[in-house]
Amino acid sequence: MAVNGELSDEGSSIRSQGRCQKHRQHPQFKQTVFCSSFRLFKTSGNKFAKSPPMAQETPNHTQRVAGWAAYDSSGKIDPFIFKRRENGVNDVTIKILYCGICHTDLHFAKNAWGITMYPCVPGHEITGVVVTVGSNVRKFSVGDRVGIGYLAASCLECEYCASSQENYCDQLQSTYNGVFWDGSITYGGYSKMIVADHRYVVRIPDSLPMDSAAPLLCAGITVFTPFKDNQLLDSPRKKIGIVGLGGLGHVAVKFGKAFGHHVTVISTSPSKEAEAKQRLGADEFIISTSADQMKAAKRSLDFILDTVSAKHSLGPVLELLKVNGTLSIVSAPDAPLDLPAFPLIFGKRTVKGSIIGGILETQEMMDLCGKHNITSDIETVTPDQINHAMDRLARNDVRYRFVIDIAGKTSKL
Ligand code: NAP
Repeated sequence: MAVNGELSDEGSSIRSQGRCQKHRQHPQFKQTVFCSSFRLFKTSGNKFAKSPPMAQETPNHTQRVAGWAAYDSSGKIDPFIFKRRENGVNDVTIKILYCGICHTDLHFAKNAWGITMYPCVPGHEITGVVVTVGSNVRKFSVGDRVGIGYLAASCLECEYCASSQENYCDQLQSTYNGVFWDGSITYGGYSKMIVADHRYVVRIPDSLPMDSAAPLLCAGITVFTPFKDNQLLDSPRKKIGIVGLGGLGHVAVKFGKAFGHHVTVISTSPSKEAEAKQRLGADEFIISTSADQMKAAKRSLDFILDTVSAKHSLGPVLELLKVNGTLSIVSAPDAPLDLPAFPLIFGKRTVKGSIIGGILETQEMMDLCGKHNITSDIETVTPDQINHAMDRLARNDVRYRFVIDIAGKTSKL
């Protein structure tokens, strides 16, 4: 049988689909955030029926696709052949060109949050070209340059969906490790093609390269929404701090400068200082492990965005805020962060969080990136280098995002 993406099921190292594990919730959250256990079954229009049992695929999953999956909590990524659904009336089928490696992929591959369903095909920073368009789709045509981020489905009816905040829909489903309307488990962008509901697809501006635009679909929108929510798009000259100069953090620095702010990077990596200033345009750089530097910067910042992927101490970060300042957390470490009361009450400070952004916002962010020529700084890898790239990501050794060249011819796999 033909396989989308050049692999055949005779491939010697290719493993077949295994059974999914129990779908569990993040112990930190009452409601699942990164992997919902809700199951919606779309009948017609926007109506939902009782959910069918969760299954890896349905009889409608007829398109065989070559991809790469983690099979267990070792996090090792191996080739994987699976089936995607046929292109439905609301769907577009996309030939994937590039997919970024978000730290979230690493968390999922290693089951850091205890919610991974194996085999897990990660990837929610996807760019590609539309190859099939469903009959209800007016927004896209064959050949369009498009992107897919974290969102695969939402209820389309709740107050959050109605106000273009699908990312806060109680029933949102993610591009991978989610359960789609038909009950099938979603598989992400570490694969040759994807079928997506067009309402969760955005257009990539012609001015942006498809490889370095890919991380904008998650890293970009995740750091864009806190700027927008905190009125930082059109009120320049604020003093902004970015904690953690990784995939999310380096795009946040670029946004901060594009929106006219004074940007301070707060980092554990002295080796990043020169490039943070020279290449990314940061105004100041503080080593977070230096008590002297942290003390000297006390009460200096209006707003801080925290992107650190590991458990860390919030107290010293809060002390950097002016009175009334805001700390916005987008990172998702696998252990709860301690929130000390004193820096909050003595500085009347606010701590908040956010997850990615809605689809309209994602398109707005993409268009702004097109206008300001903002992309991610990337290192491109072939699919057979994914494990090496993930090892380096775990060691904080990437400047600043790995992007997989999915459609390239150089991979041996
Ligand atoms: P990343 O590229 O690995 O960057 C994280 C940065 O955190 C590193 O570059 C490093 O910066 C710092 N860091 C790493 N380990 C640290 C430690 N032990 N102590 C202190 N600092 C440390 O990760 P990413 O892809 O940007 O993702 C960051 C986090 O955001 C992840 O937890 C991810 O799951 C989460 N995320 C959330 C959303 C959302 O919607 N809220 C979306 C995407 C990702 P320095 O070297 O500068 O210290």
